[in-house]
Amino acid sequence: MVCLEKLNNLAQNLNSEHIDLPSIFLGKGVIKEITNYLKQNEFQHITFVVDNNTFKAAGETIKSNILNEGFEAHVVVLTDNGNQQVIADEQTLVELFTKTPMDTDVYIAVGAGTIHDITRFCAYYMKLPFISVPTAASVDGFTSKGAPVILKGVKETLQTSSPIAVFADTDILASSPKELTAAGFGDMIAEYTSLLDWKISAWIGHEPYNQQAAEITKDALQLCVDHCEEIANHSSYGLEVLMKALIESGLVMLLLNYSRPASGAEHHLSHYWEMSLLKNGKKQLLHGAKVGVASTIIIDEYKNKLATKNVDSFTGTTLGQRLTQHWQEIMTVIDDLPSAVEVAEMLSLVHGPSKVEELGLEKELVLESLQNAHTLRERCTGLFLLNTLLSPNRIIGL
Ligand SMILES: [Zn+2]
Repeated sequence: MVCLEKLNNLAQNLNSEHIDLPSIFLGKGVIKEITNYLKQNEFQHITFVVDNNTFKAAGETIKSNILNEGFEAHVVVLTDNGNQQVIADEQTLVELFTKTPMDTDVYIAVGAGTIHDITRFCAYYMKLPFISVPTAASVDGFTSKGAPVILKGVKETLQTSSPIAVFADTDILASSPKELTAAGFGDMIAEYTSLLDWKISAWIGHEPYNQQAAEITKDALQLCVDHCEEIANHSSYGLEVLMKALIESGLVMLLLNYSRPASGAEHHLSHYWEMSLLKNGKKQLLHGAKVGVASTIIIDEYKNKLATKNVDSFTGTTLGQRLTQHWQEIMTVIDDLPSAVEVAEMLSLVHGPSKVEELGLEKELVLESLQNAHTLRERCTGLFLLNTLLSPNRIIGL
């Protein structure tokens, strides 16, 4: 089991020991330990949540292991939509509710982010625990409570359940498609800008900030950057490093009960793009692929636009005063960012998209999102500053 010393320390300092951190099993062959875990926790009736691919990748093996030990297993294979994607919308959520046997003791989610989101949503409303078996190191949200779901065509993130245990088997992760690993790397690399935006929000928006949480997230990001080659080679070790970073980063958000360390303006851009794809019935892109590219765009905006602004005239308003007061610090953290080119090179190295064109998004949509994405969440970010206080059509009174 993975040692969570840093996270336990953070829990103590936040007075959130009451939050039960999931047990984390990470490494080669850890799915074999699931049966023991089920025995120890006296679970008997298990419902697997899979899609066709993840059943083959891992579900089948786990199912036969647990059947051999005398457990009862029921498998729900979620059906995909017209674009051959499983989507966390009303249809799929109801599908899982109605296909869950009434005597289920525990769910096992076997898959990437979306299968986890559907499972955590149903687990929460069915008052059942769930176990996470990621089949790809594709996202930082496996341990999260937040379930992004699409209700009446609009994406909303609802607070539901986090898993009681995670079994991240690096043999399975290493045989997942490289684009999924690249997406996980993209979700980590996005923390360059999300961590910076978190600082800006604390300085200007007076939002809560936690240095220890920021340090753990920063270390997790650095670990991925330092092992970029191994992750690109899809070695078992590379996958272990990436998955560890994704899990740590996810647990920090779980303890804080907000996503600020790993979600800034780059996530707002990605969310804007996602809404547009949804509205137009287009195929969804991987979360990490979008936020990775979005973070290169945000770095460019901050280095080339935000850092060139003149703040001398901002003494009149409260926000303006704070901006003037912290401007030098903001300049320093922007200066510390790697360049957009360096980040794009890392994304390419791990076989992920690094440009908007590779995502297949229209230039107009990207420009529109840069103008409007800051309105999606009430969060202070560098993009928010660029579009309000520091905009040429500045909104007087802010
Ligand atoms: Zn993310």
